[in-house]
Amino acid sequence: MICNQSILIFYRIIHRCLLLIGIDADVVFPALDTPPPKSFALSPVIVPPVIVQVAAYELLSIAPPFHVHCRSTTVPYFDDEFDAVGERAARDEETGKTYFVPGNMTYKEWEKVFVNSGDKSQFTPTSPMEKSNELGYTIRTKEEFENITNSIKSDITNYANNHSKWSGNINVHKDLIDGDAMGVKEWSCDIAVIASADDGVLWHEMLHSCSASYYLPNVYSEHQFIEEGTVEFLKQQICAERNIRNIGAYEDKVLILKTINDSFGYGTDLEFAKEIFNVPLPDRYQWLVDKVDESLRNANASFEDYNDVMFFLKALEGGENG
Ligand SMILES: [Zn+2]
Repeated sequence: MICNQSILIFYRIIHRCLLLIGIDADVVFPALDTPPPKSFALSPVIVPPVIVQVAAYELLSIAPPFHVHCRSTTVPYFDDEFDAVGERAARDEETGKTYFVPGNMTYKEWEKVFVNSGDKSQFTPTSPMEKSNELGYTIRTKEEFENITNSIKSDITNYANNHSKWSGNINVHKDLIDGDAMGVKEWSCDIAVIASADDGVLWHEMLHSCSASYYLPNVYSEHQFIEEGTVEFLKQQICAERNIRNIGAYEDKVLILKTINDSFGYGTDLEFAKEIFNVPLPDRYQWLVDKVDESLRNANASFEDYNDVMFFLKALEGGENG
């Protein structure tokens, strides 16, 4: 109940921010999970991802959360930049593994194939890269990963003030690591990736090796959300700059950082991502709070707006264990 209510508040704040920065439509991505109650006007049972005017949102009916434990999400909609259908992640009940289906697949279609044991053969991949052979991606060997990561190690000095603590070793896994990760930076400073990981995963883990690797594991746990949010935000800007295909992660946290920068204009997203990433991890969240506090005061924000934005930032505080 508490989780659900906080998700509801989180979405209310996101909608206000989207309107403030002039994004007037959102794409709602219903999660391919258990069906929600049929009482909702536009439920995932009947819709593929759908474009919704933010101003027309009626929470609990056309925007998530649709129901208790809802994993549906939204993404800001841009009119003409993206024409590809894209992919959506879903979870296999039997194996617990993630696989990818076409972005425009409806819940009904998904249910027919995956819940009622239809023909899954065209959807079996457990990772995005295997699915993307036609785009030139393929399974890679330990040696190939290590060669690419070595070149990232020298390029990363353009973005990170600290040098990388990567050991030089990559451990290649056949399946998603710990059930859901495409890459992990281990505390030995080895990097573990699935054989089909994209270069974005390598950049993400290498950024950790210039950041969290400088601290003990408990410091990472205490500041996990700001670390993951800022690492992924910077990784996405680097990939955009260098035209590297990558699958996004931690989208809720990246969206907060992007929205804050869109609202207050601290520079390009790449400049802001670099600036915050290079603040030492133990100080990083507080640094952001102080910076936003100053911007809100300078803008003479109302008491209500001030509190809403500060609450919005809280999703970047702490970690899964506190
Ligand atoms: Zn990470």
